[in-house]
Amino acid sequence: MELTKREIVHFPQGMTWEDIKVKGFLETSFVDWAGKVVSVLFLPGCNFRCPYCHNHLLVLNPEQYEDISLAHIVGRLAELKGWVDGVCISGGEPTIHPHLPLLIEEIKALGFLVKLDTNGSQPHVLRSLVNEGLVDFVAMDVKAPLDEISYTRTAGVLVNLERIKESISFLQKGRIEYQFRITVVPALHREEDLLKLALQLRGSSSLTPQNFNPQDPLDENLKGTSPYPDEWIREMEARIAAIVNS
Ligand code: SF4
Repeated sequence: MELTKREIVHFPQGMTWEDIKVKGFLETSFVDWAGKVVSVLFLPGCNFRCPYCHNHLLVLNPEQYEDISLAHIVGRLAELKGWVDGVCISGGEPTIHPHLPLLIEEIKALGFLVKLDTNGSQPHVLRSLVNEGLVDFVAMDVKAPLDEISYTRTAGVLVNLERIKESISFLQKGRIEYQFRITVVPALHREEDLLKLALQLRGSSSLTPQNFNPQDPLDENLKGTSPYPDEWIREMEARIAAIVNS
């Protein structure tokens, strides 16, 4: 699809498509937003270094991936309209990019719902996106129980925990739909850690445990280590839900 000047409505003077970097574009996904068919955009870079991260090339060496032209993405999204319900903005960590609101405005202008995947480290960005009506659903990865030692160990960097708590509190107000998620790694999380976090997030809409993928993690020491059995994750999901929803 050929883009006309009129269609690029939200960019300030002097800014071009090339100022926004997108490194991955999955045209259709059935698993990224429950009940919806979505396209997924992957933005480069992240301010965390989670040892289990399976997107570490995108985090540490994003230059290894070609930039995907936004003109191409917008053109394909326009063609997918009617089949795809929304667009999931993922990464890396999307909220570290100053141009994120402009990117989402372009997607919104096409009439799509928008889901944001985030680590919750930029509460001011999250608040602004929600207040501007730019996101419809937020999936926030909570890394560990909300204490400095657990969080720093699991995020792989010193984390400003107050910012994480601010994002959690903001989402808990329920202005938009949201989901908290935690990737569960045996070397980092014990049963009591998950139950402690569930208690800390009591009253939230959900906290979903996800199993760790040991195939190609950021920290080579985790490579090939055994994840928890899927049945255990399912059992924990039910126990966590009982606490979070109580
Ligand atoms: S928050 Fe962690 S898991 Fe997510 S992209 Fe960043 S380093 Fe990877």
